[in-house]
Amino acid sequence: MTPTLSKFVFVMLAIGWYLIRYEHARRSRREKIRRSDRGPRETALLLISLTGLGILPLVYVATGIPHFAAYDFHPIQAWLGLFAAIAALIIFHLTHRALGRNWSISLDVREHHQLVTDGIYQRVRHPMYSAFWLWAIAQALLLPNWVAGFSGLIGFGILFFGRVAREERMMLETFGDSYRVYMARTGRIFPSIF
Ligand code: SAH
Repeated sequence: MTPTLSKFVFVMLAIGWYLIRYEHARRSRREKIRRSDRGPRETALLLISLTGLGILPLVYVATGIPHFAAYDFHPIQAWLGLFAAIAALIIFHLTHRALGRNWSISLDVREHHQLVTDGIYQRVRHPMYSAFWLWAIAQALLLPNWVAGFSGLIGFGILFFGRVAREERMMLETFGDSYRVYMARTGRIFPSIF
């Protein structure tokens, strides 16, 4: 693995991510929204996450900025990044397939919203966020730059911790005991082993 190849892997991750999402975003848009917990706070969280996972690393890939934050490239680190990127894409694809039209970019409940509790959702209740964490880890491993590499972990971390409890509250209010039972047997981003 070379530094150029490593950057190329990151760009392929971003393109693969976009392709997986595009199709589902188009399809789920047709499904009406019954309740939305969107607001300025959600918008801010999304922008922070987009900056950390997308804008800063892509500016770095294109220009090398910020130069002061560069550190030595290690091929083994980049190989680990490649594996994390592949795992992220696979999980991202599976979560979109399982959620189908229930997906949305923010906190929405759709008209015919169904609680998904099987497939990749069987033991983890936020596997799409697991995939985002894997992206952030891949980014940190692939880009030898303290700012552009770690901005994903920080940016997505802020979205995740700012959102996940509110999302679970919304699901509890919508699905009641079904979600309570589901929560008891799942982990948030790691499979529950009990
Ligand atoms: N947090 C989930 C889903 C992210 S998409 C994950 O990480 O996999 C966000 C939307 O998914 C929310 O608007 C919510 O309405 C919906 N959602 C979250 N968990 C769900 C589930 N188990 N079944 C159906 N929809 C779900």
